[in-house]
Amino acid sequence: MKKLCVFCGSAEGNSPAYLEMAQNLGKMMAQNNVALVYGGASIGVMGAIADSVLANGGVVIGVIPKTLVDYEIAHKDLTELHVVEDMHQRKKMMYDRSDAFLSLPGGMGTLDEMFEILTWSQLGLHSKRCFIYNFMGFYDSLLAYLNHSHKEGFIKEPHLHMLEEIKDDTGLLKLVSSL
Ligand code: AMP
Repeated sequence: MKKLCVFCGSAEGNSPAYLEMAQNLGKMMAQNNVALVYGGASIGVMGAIADSVLANGGVVIGVIPKTLVDYEIAHKDLTELHVVEDMHQRKKMMYDRSDAFLSLPGGMGTLDEMFEILTWSQLGLHSKRCFIYNFMGFYDSLLAYLNHSHKEGFIKEPHLHMLEEIKDDTGLLKLVSSL
């Protein structure tokens, strides 16, 4: 079974559209037999996608550091929940267990996880694909920054293309069904 690691917000966002998007993706993953690997929380966009994969009969693997078990409210009903020592172990386990990575809207934690996996790719430490869902233009300014940084000579052309933009549901389905 293929595994997709999803980075996303521990908050819900200000519009119900964010949770709906996560629910829709969770259903798509379960229907296409793609397991979810994520940070193990029951809150925010993270909780919504996990709940949806489970509700649709899919597999969810959560990885949470022990210090965050209460703070992020660890999800109790996952297929597997791994409680690890610290953030670094969490990220390493999520990365090792996944076939590809996808970022949904989120905050600083989401960006930290996405950029770490991109920098590892840049250094040739892995060759797994990394996607960003630019839902309702959420990541327009981040993608503009990356292009700007490339134009100014700080990001090489091949590295710019390591992050693959998904623009809509059709793109999500293409990813999920082709893993
Ligand atoms: P956020 O996008 O900030 O809501 O965070 C999403 C996930 O990233 C949550 O599971 C956080 O625990 C995690 N996270 C938050 N800050 C960091 C950090 N500095 N390094 C790694 N992960 C983080």
